[in-house]
Amino acid sequence: MSDTDLIFLGHTDLSGHVRGKGLMRRDYDGGKRAVGWTPTNAFITCFGGIAPSPFGALGDVMLTADPETLVLVEEPDWPLAERFVLGNVSEIADGAPWPLCPRSQLTSVLDRLARQHGLTVKAAFEHEFHVDGVEANAGFGYRLEAHRRLGAFPDRLASVLTRAGLVVENILPEYGSGQVEVSISPRDALRAADEATALRELARGTARSLGLTVSFAPILDPAWVGNGVHIHFSLGDLSGNPVNYDPSRPDDMSERAGAFLAGILAHMPAVLAFTASAATSYLRLTPHRWSAAYNNLGKQDREAGLRICPVFQGADPHRAFHFEYRAADASASPHLALAAVLAAGMAGLDANLPAPVPTAQDVSLLPDEQLAERGLVRLPQSLSEALDAVAASPLPRAAFGDVMADGFVAHKRHEAAAAEQWDLATQCTRYAEVY
Ligand code: GLU
Ligand code: MG
Repeated sequence: MSDTDLIFLGHTDLSGHVRGKGLMRRDYDGGKRAVGWTPTNAFITCFGGIAPSPFGALGDVMLTADPETLVLVEEPDWPLAERFVLGNVSEIADGAPWPLCPRSQLTSVLDRLARQHGLTVKAAFEHEFHVDGVEANAGFGYRLEAHRRLGAFPDRLASVLTRAGLVVENILPEYGSGQVEVSISPRDALRAADEATALRELARGTARSLGLTVSFAPILDPAWVGNGVHIHFSLGDLSGNPVNYDPSRPDDMSERAGAFLAGILAHMPAVLAFTASAATSYLRLTPHRWSAAYNNLGKQDREAGLRICPVFQGADPHRAFHFEYRAADASASPHLALAAVLAAGMAGLDANLPAPVPTAQDVSLLPDEQLAERGLVRLPQSLSEALDAVAASPLPRAAFGDVMADGFVAHKRHEAAAAEQWDLATQCTRYAEVY
């Protein structure tokens, strides 16, 4: 540790990236926990262009650290030092949450869920990504040999994540060539999104310390499997006791959980852009890639938009019964993605929606009339279409306010227009470079 070390104070923005400024460690330790921030920065796209911003060159906001999120991983014998802290963007005059701050939006959705419905949320983000620079082979899915050829990466990543306070459950060689998956333990929702952010950054830092690179882009080649971010979640009462499981009801779903899931399914087309925010996200969200292409609930179905996860023998179903939103990827801010999913669930509670009936077949084979009878729709098939759904739905405005709803659409339309000039292979390459 040195007096001139920097601690990077950042937040996940609309591009899903962590942007911010480095603070001198002595100042941070001395209590300086805020930096000035520029409103138009929210319009910097993942490719670096600036989308039309309502702020132009005007205005100032403030980025303030939440010390609970501090990550300090400094190993003397490793070429790796990760020092960062996440924060919220607020107005300079009164400290009010700034509407374009994803972390503030998540906090406010969680507050409303607690106040209006007496509910809390636990979540866990399961990440897939590709490692470049190791010997990989398409036939190596889940193989010990694939794990071995990742060299020091999995062990070092486990160690780095643990030092940063994350509880690692699995690190595994996924099905794709060079693809890795990391699952971490559930946390209170805000912390889960903070840890998802830390996980992406720490995987990048760990890879770099070993001369490797990783990409969390949703898909690296139109013909390959995608990199999903599966958002596991469960509802609890205000003391955190789970309220999802009710064996007296169909599919063991409590009434509240059923209404919540129904809200997510009803609003999924409008939620999608907030959870799958790249043009290439929509190459992944196609049938038969084990991602999600419809707004269906499935039980043991890895193609369902929303899944009831299995409860393994010996587990307490009250604690283990939970749900997984599968139509997300790492182009989205974990904070904004979770906020959008939870806002949709809350809309289901507000409307007292009946519990959805799980599908038990390949829904991509169902004729249109049968889809319509069951309230199922094919999810938007491009970023532009997903943004049309955002613009057409009252939910994003009601949940996030006009500044975020309009700002998000403006930012992402600009990005979509840039991406759509390129062929699919180039889109994949460009997104792989920046995620
Ligand atoms: N790679 C798949 C996806 O894009 C997920 C595979 C799985 O873990 O079920 O979401
Ligand atoms: Mg997986």
